[in-house]
Amino acid sequence: MRIVITGGAGFVGSHLGDRLLAEGHEVVAIDNLVTGSLRNIAHLTDNPQFSFVKHDVSEPFFVDGPVDRIAHLASPASPVDFLRIPIQIMKVNSLGTYHALGMARKKGARLLLASTSEVYGDPLVHPQTEDYNGNVNTLGPRGAYDEAKRFAEALAMAYHRMHDVEVRIVRIFNTYGPRMRLDDGRVVPNFVSQALRGDALTVFGDGAQTRSFCYVSDLVDGIYRLLQSDVDGPVNIGNPDEMTIREFGERINAATGNAAGIDLLPLPYERSGDPSRRCPDITRAQTLLGWAPAVPFDEGMGETIRWFRTELEHAGAG
Ligand code: NAD
Ligand code: UDP
Repeated sequence: MRIVITGGAGFVGSHLGDRLLAEGHEVVAIDNLVTGSLRNIAHLTDNPQFSFVKHDVSEPFFVDGPVDRIAHLASPASPVDFLRIPIQIMKVNSLGTYHALGMARKKGARLLLASTSEVYGDPLVHPQTEDYNGNVNTLGPRGAYDEAKRFAEALAMAYHRMHDVEVRIVRIFNTYGPRMRLDDGRVVPNFVSQALRGDALTVFGDGAQTRSFCYVSDLVDGIYRLLQSDVDGPVNIGNPDEMTIREFGERINAATGNAAGIDLLPLPYERSGDPSRRCPDITRAQTLLGWAPAVPFDEGMGETIRWFRTELEHAGAG
């Protein structure tokens, strides 16, 4: 199949590209590099099955020839970006999704939308099931991202109902792994780089908020299964191994041998509305896709720490 990945030079998009190529597909990656990097796809430049187009998908875009699938991943994803570039985020998830769906309609392609656990906001249902409608504050700093993703889901369903476009919606929970950006601002790059520098970890609030971290190859496997499936409706993909952020920090310090401990800091403004608990209910993924995470935390984090160690050496040398 010929598969377009918007956001194909990003963290998840580049790993998805690797998997699709390994499965024998052709990949066209489209990305404006706002948060992605050519380094993530540098190893693919000589691959005749891979091509890259630098383009902002909030503007109309066209791909010559047939397209069988579109994985629409383009969107900044770090809470730091929700405050830094909220309008770009709202544009790519609204106009960008509109353009991607238009292409899906024209080409007769199936579209997979990268949605997020953020559609559940600060959830009142725990763990989060796909039928929970969420608790999102439209006015807070996270609102730009959360509402844009909710709009994107609604738009995808509108194209499905109105134009029979086949859509798949993956609600991605916190994912980590190599190719995350050092200065991304999310907790994994922050804590791992702080630990490798021998600094205390910056835990926001009291650290009692929870997250559940999924290794990127597990996420990509879930996305691949969903993309190829007949499953209608949203599917959570995440690792239900829930932990507090404080506990997460302690595990990172132990894994890196960092003795500097943890600093409890007030929640920064861009973090207001920080969800207090988050954990996916993955029953739908398990029963409909036969999917469950396979990579244990220590193994995935070991790979991730190795990646950030090299990144820090690179940054130091530069
Ligand atoms: P990322 O920032 O590494 O990747 C996003 C990519 O999209 C980047 O390469 C960026 O340059 C590109 N992009 C952004 N706006 C664009 C535009 N207007 N035109 C073209 N390209 C554009 O982030 P990621 O973690 O790889 O996230 C990928 C997708 O998964 C996003 O849609 C995100 O919302 C979703 N998601 C990720 C997580 C996670 O934990 N990583 C969790 C929930 C949802
Ligand atoms: N966090 C933290 N210190 C940091 C970065 C993040 O304590 O340096 C916390 C943040 O407040 C949130 C959790 O870690 O509770 C996960 O943050 P991240 O940005 O990775 O993703 P989120 O799940 O909030 O979208």
